[in-house]
Formats: sequence, C-alpha cells, structure tokens
Amino acid sequence: MSDLPDDLSPDSLAVHAGRGDLRALGVHALPLDLSTTYPFASLDGAVASLDAMMAGDDPTEGGPVYSRLHSPTVARFESGLAALEGTERAVAFSSGMAAITAAVLAAREASASGENGTGKNHVVGVKPIYGTTDKLLSSGTLGLEVTWTDASGVRDAVREDTCLVCVETPVNPTLELVDLEDIVRQASGVPVMCDSTFATPVLQRPAAHGVAMVVHSGTKFIGGHGDVLAGVVACSREWAAKLREVRILTGANLHPMAAYMLHRGLPTLPLRVRRSQETATDLAARLLAHEAVSNVYHPSVPGRDPHGLVGRQMDGPGPMLSFEVAGFVEADRLMRALRVITPAVSLGSTDTLIQHPAGLTQRVASGEGGAITPGLLRLAVGLEDAEDLWRDLLRGLDG
Ligand SMILES: *Cc1c(COP(=O)(O)O)cnc(C)c1O
Repeated sequence: MSDLPDDLSPDSLAVHAGRGDLRALGVHALPLDLSTTYPFASLDGAVASLDAMMAGDDPTEGGPVYSRLHSPTVARFESGLAALEGTERAVAFSSGMAAITAAVLAAREASASGENGTGKNHVVGVKPIYGTTDKLLSSGTLGLEVTWTDASGVRDAVREDTCLVCVETPVNPTLELVDLEDIVRQASGVPVMCDSTFATPVLQRPAAHGVAMVVHSGTKFIGGHGDVLAGVVACSREWAAKLREVRILTGANLHPMAAYMLHRGLPTLPLRVRRSQETATDLAARLLAHEAVSNVYHPSVPGRDPHGLVGRQMDGPGPMLSFEVAGFVEADRLMRALRVITPAVSLGSTDTLIQHPAGLTQRVASGEGGAITPGLLRLAVGLEDAEDLWRDLLRGLDG
C-alpha cells in the first residue's frame, strides 16, 4: 500500500489496494498462506512479537507466532479494505455478526475506566436494523441494555453509561437513508458504529462522516459471489487495537482462504456494485408503474430520499430495493413463478435474489413490523441483464 500514489481514484485503489508487498515477494497474484503456526528464529523475538500483538499492534520481526493472533493473508485483505473505506485499519472476522459482536465488545472495553473498570453497558440502537443485530442487542446475550430509537431520537436516548450508538444505512429492508453526520452530532461524543453492508465502500464511506467503526457483512457484496461468510470493521488504529484484542480472545477469526477470496474480488467490487445499482434503479421505476405493486422502496423513487443523502452521503441509490404486493399469498405466488431470480435470503451475489422480510430476515426483530408487511419483497439485484429480470418479475406480477 505504502508505494501507491495517494491520488488514486477509488476504482484504481480497488484494483491495487493491499497488494503493496507482492513485488517484493516476487509474485503477481495474491499469495495464500494457510499456516496456523509460525516458526520463530529466536525466543526473544517471538516474545516481543506476541506482546505487541496482544496489545493490538502488528507483529514485529518475531513473526506472527500463531494465526489466531495474525495471518498475513487476512492482514493483506484488511489493508485493502481499509484503503477503500479511507480508514487507518480494518479488522476482519468470521462473519458479519462476529464483526458486530466484536465492535460492541470493543466499545464496552474502550469505555472502561480504571484498573478493573468493567465498561459501560448501555447501547443505543437506531431502528430499523438488520434482524439478527436487533436480536443480538435485545437478547441480553452480551449483557447489554439497549434503548431503541429512530434516527431523530438518538440525542434523547444517549445516557451517561452509553458506550455505543448502532446504526445502519441504507436500512434493511426499507432502504431508507440515515444521515450519519446528524447521528454523530446527536451521539455527542459516544462512538457510532455504522453497518454499511448495503452501500459498500464503493457508494459510502461512513468514517468520513465521523463514524468510529464501519461494519460490513463481507458475505454480501464484498465477497460478491455467494461463497464466503465474512465480516469486517474499518476504523482507526486505536479501535483496531481493541478489535484485534477482542478477536484474539474470542477467536472469531476470518479464515485465510476466505480472506483470499474477498481480496480477489475487491478489484471488481466497483463494477459489480454500479452495474447492480443501475439495474435496480431501472427495475424500481418499472415496478413503480406496475398496477400490482403498491409501494417501491429505493432511494431513486421520488420522495424516498427526503434528506437528499444521495450525492451527499451516498454516491448513488444503491443496488437493493424492496416492493410491496397485495399480501402474503401474492408474494408467495410471485416468488414461485420466477425462473431466473432465486428465492433466497442474502444479497450482493452475482445473481439476483428475492426474499420475504416479514417471514424470514426480520422475523427475529423486536417490536412491530411497520413497513415490513406480509406483501413486502426484497430484491437483491445481481448482474443479469435488466430485461431478463423484468420479464421474470412480470411472470410473477402478471401471473
Ligand atoms: C447479512 C448481514 C449481516 C450479518 O452478516 P453475516 O455475515 O451473515 O453474519 C449484518 N448486517 C447486514 C446489513 C446484513 O445484510
């Protein structure tokens, strides 16, 4: 990384980021190191390196020692992702939920004062939010107390003992955009974690708006091919040290093979995201005009970006959309009629997926459904031709 010119455009950065050591290694493609343990030349060196890593720093000349502490292949992907997010560091985890869990634990740890301070236990969550994040924060599994609010209520929800504000934008599955600078202002000094999975660093870089920890489910667009489970947090050097400590203690490491696959996909991430976004925008307009569709949720739809965040915070309306048909029966019938689009949860793959939030992904969320009605369907637009996708949707809408 250090050798790259610092005026590279994001697309060029996606191609080259995290590959700064390859020439010195004498290789062109990304190397994959599957070692779980590493030989050390001297005990002194290994001890020094171990101490550095336990404190959240990079390994020294003593080497990585053990791969739960450090993996060169994972670290290479992390530096690539950090470059795209414009952060000093990124820390990768075995899944998006492992990344979110680590972010919360790191925030609690960071809020601890004194020798045996236990840290603050209160979290503010901005709804709606990914169903499993909702469940994680509400369930008490992490020993937290959560106050749920909407994007305008953060200031009132923050307390003396709040260690973190959790927000997601674009919001799942209604694709509302949340003004991150406003959330950071309301949080008044309490760190903000933003789940930016739906935007990817191609369309949004939350750290530039004051967000402390930017979380992604790498399983989605960053992986991009539906074959890797992963998570990552992009952040400052200080936050990364805390997150690495949590990762060493909890062991939710990303496998080097997964890191290799994620890194291999970074060069095409901008192309994939923009192509899907273009198709999503096209389909949103066509769905809006169809008589069997009562609502379309996509920031490109008139009235769906009331704060004007496309252009200011997001570089485009994004590749995800939701739409509403009459009810559960119609939604079920539509999905059964499809021959190109696959009924499946998840998103960000090469192929288009459709799912039913009320029945599946938001099922575990607390509270009432709001816009998440029995007729709501979420479309994760892939890389197929827009006409083929539209003909497929018509099979379901007109059938
Ligand atoms: C999928 C997803 C997660 C969870 O990620 P996993 O990799 O499945 O653990 C979190 N947030 C959002 C917005 C997601 O789409």
